[in-house]
Amino acid sequence: MVLCTRCGKEKAIIHVRHKNIYLCKKCFITYFNTEAEETLKKAGILDNISGKLITVAVSGGKDSLNTLYLMKKLAEKYGFEVNTLLINEGIKGYREFTIKAFLNHIRGLRLNYTIVDLKKELGFTVDEAAKLFFQGKIEWRPCTVCGITRRYFLNKYSRELGASYLATGHNLDDEVQTVVMNILRGDIQALVRGGIVVRAEHRKLVSRIKPLHYIYERESLIHSLVAGIRTPYVECPYAPLSLRWGIREFLNKIEAEKPGFKYRLLVKTDELREKLRNKIRVVEFTECKICGEPSSKEVCKTCEIKLKINKLLG
Ligand code: SF4
Ligand code: ZN
Repeated sequence: MVLCTRCGKEKAIIHVRHKNIYLCKKCFITYFNTEAEETLKKAGILDNISGKLITVAVSGGKDSLNTLYLMKKLAEKYGFEVNTLLINEGIKGYREFTIKAFLNHIRGLRLNYTIVDLKKELGFTVDEAAKLFFQGKIEWRPCTVCGITRRYFLNKYSRELGASYLATGHNLDDEVQTVVMNILRGDIQALVRGGIVVRAEHRKLVSRIKPLHYIYERESLIHSLVAGIRTPYVECPYAPLSLRWGIREFLNKIEAEKPGFKYRLLVKTDELREKLRNKIRVVEFTECKICGEPSSKEVCKTCEIKLKINKLLG
């Protein structure tokens, strides 16, 4: 039996490999909470936050429910408000299960929530957009349609709800995948803008924060289990079609051979971001001439996708 490195009394339930520490259930929950709090503190998010509102983007999966759990605890400590926002993209065999988990999770919690239905907002679901992609009628993969439109509505609704920040459940594994994707695309601006906090660069944008930035997916999974957060561990059927999926497999292989590789890569990238932040030209936002939301072009990507897909669907 391996004993907890921190308390030295209880049986360890996890080896936190990148820090080479063994933790028991209680010490692991403390570690998880402290890591997230320190991450937000480091980015200055918890300074002057009292009385403000943070919207948590939830999907009902383990990462977003862990984020909600953390943010509710921090809200009590630092005196801010929390509400939640869920985008239902209409992915059958997947999203209905996570929505059910979310609704079960918040039962009994005093929490305001908003569910945004993509079908009502855009006229189509991600399933319908996927069908058009498989028929060769659109060039956008399901994850492209889903990612772009979800970001759009998360920003729009969190702004309308009056949020100072939008908290998302991106974990360390997601963050490292994004770093590699930005490098492969040659998108240095996106690489530099990323990190614990993505600052709003337009009056209609809400700054995004990622409390799980330095938390491995494996730790997030174990936390959800030990903290009694019930969620189905289902994978979206479209995930294997994305570039992210291939990168995830590749990075997992390296991590298995060199434990802590992803953590070190993210720490180094964050240091680089700090050095480059004021040297790289920021994206210039204007407002979409159709919907008025922030956009780097005359017509935003969501409106472009909406117009094309609705035309094809008649
Ligand atoms: Fe959307 Fe792709 Fe994520 Fe599925 S895997 S929820 S389609 S972004
Ligand atoms: Zn638009």
